[in-house]
Amino acid sequence: MYIERLELKNFRNYESLSITFDKGINILYGKNAQGKTNILEAVFAGCTSRSHKSAKDRELIKFGEEEAHVKVNLIKNEIPYRIDLHIKKNRAKGIAVKGVPLRKISDLFGTANVVFFSPEDLSLIKDGPAERRRFIDTELCQLDRIYTHDLISYNKVVEQKNKLLKDMSEEAQGAPSSESALSMEVYNEQLLKYGCSIMERRAKFIKELNGFIKDIHMNITGGSEVLKLNYEKNVSESDFASMLAMNMDREIKNGCSLTGPHRDDLGFKVNNVDLRKFGSQGQQKTASLSLKMAEISLVESVIGEKPVLLLDDVLSELDRNRQDQLLDSIKDIQTLLTCTGIDDLIERRFRMDKVFYIENGVVINGKV
Ligand code: ATP
Ligand code: MG
Repeated sequence: MYIERLELKNFRNYESLSITFDKGINILYGKNAQGKTNILEAVFAGCTSRSHKSAKDRELIKFGEEEAHVKVNLIKNEIPYRIDLHIKKNRAKGIAVKGVPLRKISDLFGTANVVFFSPEDLSLIKDGPAERRRFIDTELCQLDRIYTHDLISYNKVVEQKNKLLKDMSEEAQGAPSSESALSMEVYNEQLLKYGCSIMERRAKFIKELNGFIKDIHMNITGGSEVLKLNYEKNVSESDFASMLAMNMDREIKNGCSLTGPHRDDLGFKVNNVDLRKFGSQGQQKTASLSLKMAEISLVESVIGEKPVLLLDDVLSELDRNRQDQLLDSIKDIQTLLTCTGIDDLIERRFRMDKVFYIENGVVINGKV
């Protein structure tokens, strides 16, 4: 798929913007704090209804304004789509596809596929498990509507259960009231139901990623590293029920829910060594790059088309060799790439189909 045009009204530091992209590689360059990332964020928001940084909706509205508009025109399987996202300060956002308002935001699902790649993604391996779970969830929510539903339901139950556990831990010592015990039973049943299907889907996703990542990583490291992802479940499906029962006292004591896929992690092993603990910084970064590249291949295999790639300032984080690997791999995928300067890209004769210069919320076409 590819994005033809993006139009903004009062989005971040853009009062008004209309920008037409090339099907190939689009370079957005300019000094710091001018609005390069904001354009990628707008594309991501238009395609997924959310910010890639999980910023709150109202933060996307230009300071001092009441509402923001994002309009994305895209072509998918040769069919044109127009997505209109309308973000309001004090009301729920609205989305329309081809001019028809969606009843639920989740109905946007599957309309567009984008992969966002930012410098933060390169620290995924040294970050904590929460970031790695967020990586899995962000991608799976774009690929699987049932997963999205299960995850939202599961998280809601965890929240409710945490509240109950907190109340119980604050209650006088002694056996929980029969009312609390009954609610707990209901919550645990729901955690089991949604949790098991989340685990099953995550396991499949990680297996599929493994199918791509090995060769990609071999290639980047010149054949010296065999990278394997491991799904590290907090608890297996078969033990989930008994662990919930067994951990009950501890959960009440802690006032929070300790068992289930909200505590899962993703492991990275190179030649059987755990990269999270023993990887060098460069090794960790390279494996994160391989992961992102595997993600693109996986999305393509699932939707039957290449997603749009949003590359936010990642080149500056990579050495020459890894930059080349990445740039080589994006030859036939629509890419919006931000950077602070293009001298280096010109020098190495990198293909730039369209170049935009960005200054203080204004985009100037074709200035090289
Ligand atoms: P860098 O090269 O440093 O990454 P950038 O060009 O990517 O810079 P952005 O992050 O796109 O910069 O834009 C940052 C600018 O947008 C900042 O000056 C910030 O104050 C402004 N900004 C962010 N949110 C809003 C908002 N809601 N309303 C108005 N301006 C905003
Ligand atoms: Mg930026």
